[in-house]
Amino acid sequence: TEVKETKMFVRTLFDYDPNEDKAIPCKEAGLSFKKGDILQIVSQDDGTWWQAKRECDANLRAGLIPSKQFQERYPQALELHPPVPSPCFLPFLLQAGFRRSFRLSRKDRKMNKSMYECKRSEQYDTADVPTYEEVVFYQRQPSEKYRLVVFVGPPGVGLNELKRKLLISSSQHYGVTIPHTTRPKRSQETDGVEYHFTSKHLFETDVQNNKFIEHGEYKSNLYGTSLDSVRSVLAKNKVCLLDVQCHVSYYKAFFKKNCSLSDDFQEMIRSAELIEAQHSHLFDKILINGDLSTAYNELKSTLGHLESDAFWIPINWLH
Ligand code: 5GP
Repeated sequence: TEVKETKMFVRTLFDYDPNEDKAIPCKEAGLSFKKGDILQIVSQDDGTWWQAKRECDANLRAGLIPSKQFQERYPQALELHPPVPSPCFLPFLLQAGFRRSFRLSRKDRKMNKSMYECKRSEQYDTADVPTYEEVVFYQRQPSEKYRLVVFVGPPGVGLNELKRKLLISSSQHYGVTIPHTTRPKRSQETDGVEYHFTSKHLFETDVQNNKFIEHGEYKSNLYGTSLDSVRSVLAKNKVCLLDVQCHVSYYKAFFKKNCSLSDDFQEMIRSAELIEAQHSHLFDKILINGDLSTAYNELKSTLGHLESDAFWIPINWLH
């Protein structure tokens, strides 16, 4: 029978070793990969085992990898940092510990999940088993707008300072958004300059209508960044810089400096590992700000690459 070769490329979101996989019909036919590898999916004819080959490996034969559906239902152990789940471990980590041999159905898994529900679990309820993400090779054309660059990190690691240095170095090239707030305007402030001042009611309506890309509360006032404020920076043909302070995902390196870790910190490390396991594919670069000028130079060169080089991006970024 004729095999239709597809030109679909994916980024893998988990590590896979056919030798460790009890379910694969023939280990020699399997294709091993590491999280982040780009694979070409050659055939999806079989619902359980897809055929794939490495990007650029035109001559090599294709190998078997678990299909998205199969991996979602029976995840082969996801490569998470090994600690054995403690009773209050987050549901996702429990899930991640399941091997195929458990043969849990989707429904069973959901039940198990709720058994271990703990206070913070709401944040992860939408979390799914990471499998594959369809990608395309993309290069920005000179006529195209620049993209939004989002800095994510905990307070105190110098996000603001890095952002400020970029703006000073090239205010023609970089721009920042004007956030919305519900707090009263101060006398020296001008509406539309420091902030767009708005009412709580309008703010909440805008949130409902998905007009904000991020929002939060600080001292009983609401603050947020609207999509339109990002668009207006991009419309000026500038790279839009946005920092989102993240109070949970502390860098591991940051913690290692604090030798005596409290339970809270331990939990935050676990959350950070969880975020890393689930979302690390969304980050283009992890910067360690040990020394400001080193981190700044690294950031500048990363931004340069992102603006001019071709790279793999999720296909849904094109729409
Ligand atoms: P202020 O009201 O003094 O101008 O800002 C106080 C705090 O509001 C900031 O330190 C920050 O925590 C928060 N804030 C300011 N802008 C934004 C924003 O765009 N989004 C979010 N989520 N918080 C903001």
